[in-house]
Amino acid sequence: MSAPVIVLKLGGSVLSCDEALPQAVAEVARFVRGGHRVVAVVSAIGGTTDALLAKARRWGGAADGEAQAVLVATGETQSAALLALALSKARVPAQVLDVDRAGLRALGEVHDARPVAVDVDAIERGLAAVPVVVIPGFTARDAQGRVVLLGRGGSDLTAVFVAAELGARLRLVKDVPGLYERDPALPGPAPRRLRTVHWDEALCLDERIVQHAAVRLARSRRIEIEIAAVDRDDATRIGDVRGAFFDEDAVAIVAPPLATGIATRLVRFDATPGDVHRPTSPPLHQTATFVQESPLRPSGHDYTRSGNPTRDALERQLAQLEDARHALAYGSGMAAIAAVVGLVPTGAEILAGDDLYGGTSRLLGQILPRRGVVARHADPRDIDAFVACVSKRTRLVHVESPSNPRLAIVDVPRLAAALRERAEALGVVCPILCVDGTLMTPYLQRPLELGADVVVHSATKALCGHGDVTAGVVATDLENLARELAFSRNAEGTALAPFESWLLLRGLKTLALRLDRQQASAQVVAGFLAGRSEVSSLAYPGLADHPGALVHARQSRGPGFVLSFELEDEHAVERFARELRLLPVTVSFGAVGSSLCCPATMSHASIPPARREDAPPPGLVRLSIGLEDPEDLVADLSRALDIVGRTCVRQAVAAGGA
Ligand code: PLP
Repeated sequence: MSAPVIVLKLGGSVLSCDEALPQAVAEVARFVRGGHRVVAVVSAIGGTTDALLAKARRWGGAADGEAQAVLVATGETQSAALLALALSKARVPAQVLDVDRAGLRALGEVHDARPVAVDVDAIERGLAAVPVVVIPGFTARDAQGRVVLLGRGGSDLTAVFVAAELGARLRLVKDVPGLYERDPALPGPAPRRLRTVHWDEALCLDERIVQHAAVRLARSRRIEIEIAAVDRDDATRIGDVRGAFFDEDAVAIVAPPLATGIATRLVRFDATPGDVHRPTSPPLHQTATFVQESPLRPSGHDYTRSGNPTRDALERQLAQLEDARHALAYGSGMAAIAAVVGLVPTGAEILAGDDLYGGTSRLLGQILPRRGVVARHADPRDIDAFVACVSKRTRLVHVESPSNPRLAIVDVPRLAAALRERAEALGVVCPILCVDGTLMTPYLQRPLELGADVVVHSATKALCGHGDVTAGVVATDLENLARELAFSRNAEGTALAPFESWLLLRGLKTLALRLDRQQASAQVVAGFLAGRSEVSSLAYPGLADHPGALVHARQSRGPGFVLSFELEDEHAVERFARELRLLPVTVSFGAVGSSLCCPATMSHASIPPARREDAPPPGLVRLSIGLEDPEDLVADLSRALDIVGRTCVRQAVAAGGA
């Protein structure tokens, strides 16, 4: 019996990486020394080949002539030549099978990626001569005889062919899920932590993508194909990969994550992984509709309400930020929240916090009852009492942490656990826990990691950061929920428009920078306000005496940029606002400029009369701290408070004298 054949699938992310290639070679050598015969299927497309060549020349001090010689010898896919060159330098005999001679011929139209014949004899002959045969990823010729690279997935497809013909078991360990994640026909759960962030083949190859063909082929040939997830972050981009590891039975090399901080990822996010022009700023697809090749076959996108590449890019980045499997962008924060609560069926209940954005209170109190859904409110800081309000009919629990406007903190992990216990005790399915993370953004807090099922944001605020976009986000790991949301969003037409998506993508680049600065300044402002006699009930999670400070510190990366406090009454607020020069009165918050809001008459005026006891007091002031010099803000606030203080004293004297 001849030695077992190992099929290795080496994608471009490995081969184009300085550190990964030598490791790949070392592992191939290890298999060979272990008595295996190795078929390596390699690929790399268009833009990567130049990078590969440059690395080939640098790597191991390969002389130009040497690299060229191998290239000329194969005449085709450079990545195969690169591997062969690297192997030969490591004294592992390898042979590159020319795709044509190996019989990897397209039988149909190339883009259909129909099954091609694999010349097993050629592979066997190659393996008889040397222990390693390298097959360039699926390449084909078009009707004019021109070589066509099928793009990413080419090596996947080829690996399936080869494994089928050799009778091998195929295990693809993907460092990026590519479109496997999107293939509803693929068995098994999709990888938990992988994103379709990079290498989004759909963008360039839409329905004709090769990976679908690979899955279809594997199924038709009854090959066991397993997509294994790597617990890794989102850092795989050509040139970003550092190192690689092999699984003993894997036919793929996977790259471990490049550990990057969130600020790096915000700036380095590749919105157009498949774009040959490599734009530094994402293109704006300002179009309502897309041309289809055929009325019978929709392209990747057909209509912007249903899908748009600019919005797709935004959603990939938002999902990455939340570490969520799915993110959906909506036309406003309220549209996002309405979409989530819209999933609650008639006759069911929602349990919500008592301190919520006014618009959310309006939606829950005045719109949902029309649909036969009842919302109950309780203080989620008292978890036992709050959870006791969960009934058998409760389907959704909605809280804000920190809340708007009182900055109340909910212990999200404890709440999630208590909800599970309560549901178990009631013998019902646990309600969905939705956290509105608007005051934090995923830069400061990621509720899904804390046990929430869904996170919503008004992206109008700090996510955008420039006060020029109205947008909302829902992020979740729950497949069914995401599918339902996508369905209703398309049906109802509530998705974010392309230009807004583009603006939001731009705003996100500076999210870390803005929030670092904003919350540092907010801390200064809070410290200043804490010493002022005109101010009472000062709420800022960064102050040690905030009742939720410890919990908040445990579940977030910072106290944020919003704080609230009380002045004597609405007249004092009015006077205060009039005297401020740097903090205009605006209903929203989170922009680069600081602002002031009086929730009672502005953002929270819409709290229904039935919940008057939860409405903010008329003297409550909410500040959003921006990027101004903090000492200027303090000086402005100080001057305005001095005037408010003097006015109050005068009024008190006048009242006393009357
Ligand atoms: N959630 C919170 C906490 C908010 O403060 C707001 C708006 O202020 C919303 C949701 C609603 O977002 P939008 O105004 O984008 O619809």
